[in-house]
Amino acid sequence: MGEPIVIALDGTSASGKSTNAKLVAKALGYAYVDTGAMYRSLAWHCLEKGVALDNDKAIASLCRRWKTELRNDDGHIRLYVNGYFPEKEIRTAKTSAAVPAVAAVPGVRKWMKAKQRDCAQFGNLVMEGRDIGSNIFPETEYKFYLDASLDERAKRRAADGVDENLAERDKRDSQRAAAPLMIPLGARIINNSEMTAEETSAMIIDEVRERLEAAG
Ligand code: C5P
Repeated sequence: MGEPIVIALDGTSASGKSTNAKLVAKALGYAYVDTGAMYRSLAWHCLEKGVALDNDKAIASLCRRWKTELRNDDGHIRLYVNGYFPEKEIRTAKTSAAVPAVAAVPGVRKWMKAKQRDCAQFGNLVMEGRDIGSNIFPETEYKFYLDASLDERAKRRAADGVDENLAERDKRDSQRAAAPLMIPLGARIINNSEMTAEETSAMIIDEVRERLEAAG
């Protein structure tokens, strides 16, 4: 057996990364990793522990000390915190607003990189995030970058019952110094403003299958 295959799915907020990553993972039988959930969990943990969001040192220190464990729940790789996966808590508006500050801390990104690379212990992966193709698995040959118009992305979030400033979050994610959101070198860019998730994921699945066949 060779190295596990990693499909890197990066892109802007609400560009359909999660939906498509799950569809692609299911079709190919790969495990799915939502790296945003890991940053969200740390942001939630900081809020729980009363760590100030402008205190990089305290955030990095808490990140080095928190007790976590990766588990494979039916093909979803999740980071458990003290034996608990805070599924609901990480989706609140309060946590969403707190994540970019936590995600910009260099010590946090270093910790996350090691943990996210560790996910390869579970086999082939579809991993979604902001820096997967550029920083976490730059060596992978399977890189995709999803985007859609701001209007369309805001509509999608609203349909999920979430009202948040996506433009502001994208700006903060793109402008931070440590591993910013960017189009990874060699990534296939898919603007899915006028595409369904089925169409978007089919594009990714077809391309991956073709290239896997070509690689023998
Ligand atoms: O993907 P999701 O919207 O859940 O990500 C939440 C936040 O986590 C992003 O806005 C970003 O600040 C951070 N993030 C990141 N790098 C990743 C995944 C998420 O900085 N690979």
